[in-house]
Amino acid sequence: MSTPIAPSSSAAADGDRRRTRVLVVGSVNIDDAVRVQRFPGPGETVGARSADTALGGKGANQAVAAARAGAEVRMVGAVGAGDGGPLLAALDADGVGTAGVARLDGVPSGRAFVFIDDAAENSIVVVAGANRAIPDAAVQEACRTLGPGDVVLLQNEVPAATSRLAAGLAREAGAAVVWNAAPAPESSEELVDGHDLLLVNEHELGRLATLLGAADIPPALNSNSGTRPAAVPRTGSEGTAPIRPTGIETPVDRLVAAVAAATGADVICTLGAEGAVYRVGGETGRAAARRVEAVDTTAAGDTFAGYFAALAELPLRERLRRALDAASLAVTRPGASASIPHRDEVRRLNA
Ligand code: ADP
Repeated sequence: MSTPIAPSSSAAADGDRRRTRVLVVGSVNIDDAVRVQRFPGPGETVGARSADTALGGKGANQAVAAARAGAEVRMVGAVGAGDGGPLLAALDADGVGTAGVARLDGVPSGRAFVFIDDAAENSIVVVAGANRAIPDAAVQEACRTLGPGDVVLLQNEVPAATSRLAAGLAREAGAAVVWNAAPAPESSEELVDGHDLLLVNEHELGRLATLLGAADIPPALNSNSGTRPAAVPRTGSEGTAPIRPTGIETPVDRLVAAVAAATGADVICTLGAEGAVYRVGGETGRAAARRVEAVDTTAAGDTFAGYFAALAELPLRERLRRALDAASLAVTRPGASASIPHRDEVRRLNA
C-alpha cells in the first residue's frame, strides 16, 4: 500500500507555547480512492482515471491533521492484525501515538471506497471492519492520563457506545470533548452527549436538529436580533479570511443556535466553499473560506476538525482562521490524509 505521508517536520511546539494534547478515538481505514470523470449511474460501468490506496478513516485523518497542526496526538482505534500494519506505520510517520490502536485477529481493517469525479465531488462507501470492535479497555487505558487542557476528538465511524465511553471518561478527567458528528447520525441512539463542542457540516446539522427536536430557537436566544449580519466577503488567495460576529439571520444560523441550545454545547457548522457559521460562548458569527481551486474535497472536514482541536490554546478567531485555511488548502490536493497541510504551510498563507 502506498502511504504518501511524509514524516512531520512541523510537529514541534510553536515557540514556547505548550502543545495541546489531543486524543482521537475513532476509525482507521484503508482508503481506495478512484478518480472518475463522472460517477456511474445504476447498472453502468465507467473507467477510472487513476486509483490509489492510502491511510484514511475520519479518526486517522483527524489525528494526522492534529499532528500536522502541531499537537501531541494519540489515537485509540482498531485495525486488522493481518492488514493493519501499513496503517499504523502511516500514523507513526506523522508522530501519532498508536499504542492505543488494537490489532485484532481474524477481522479486516476498515475500508473506504472513495470515488472522486472531475467536479471534485466525492461519493464514499465504508466497510467498518475492525472499527466496529474497539475494545473498551483501550479507551479506558488511554483516558487514564487525560487532564484539563487536553482535547478528546470523536466522530461517528465507530460505535456510539465507544464514543460515549470516551466522552464520559474525558469529562471526568476535565478534558474538553469535541464531537464531529460525521457521518450524520441515523438515529438518536447514535447521539454522543457530554460534548463541549459539536462540529458538523450543513447536512449533519440538519440531521442533528431533527433528532434533537431542535428545529426552532427560543426568541430569547436571538440576542443579536434586529442587527443586520455584516456581509462576510470571501477572500482571494491572499489576505486574511474575515471572521465576524453576526445576527442569527439565515436558516443555518438558526439551526446552529437551536442545536447549541438543545445540547448546551458550542457548535461550528462548516459550509464548504462558504466557510463556516459558529456559535461559541454565546456568540454567533460567520467565517469566510479562502477562495481556492478545489481538486478533491475528501478530508476537508477532517482537516478542519483536527486543526481546530489541536489549536485549543489560540483565541477563537485565530483558531477558526487557521482551521479553515488548513481545510481550504487540503481541497487543493488529491487524497485524504495525504492532502492535509503542515502547520508551516498554513502559517505562510497569512505571513
Ligand atoms: P465536510 O468535508 O465535512 O463536508 P465542508 O465541505 O463543509 O466539510 O468543508 C470543510 C471546510 O473545508 C470548509 O469550512 C472550508 O474551509 C474548506 N472547504 C471545503 N470545500 C472548499 C472549497 N470548495 N473551497 C474552499 N474551501 C473549501
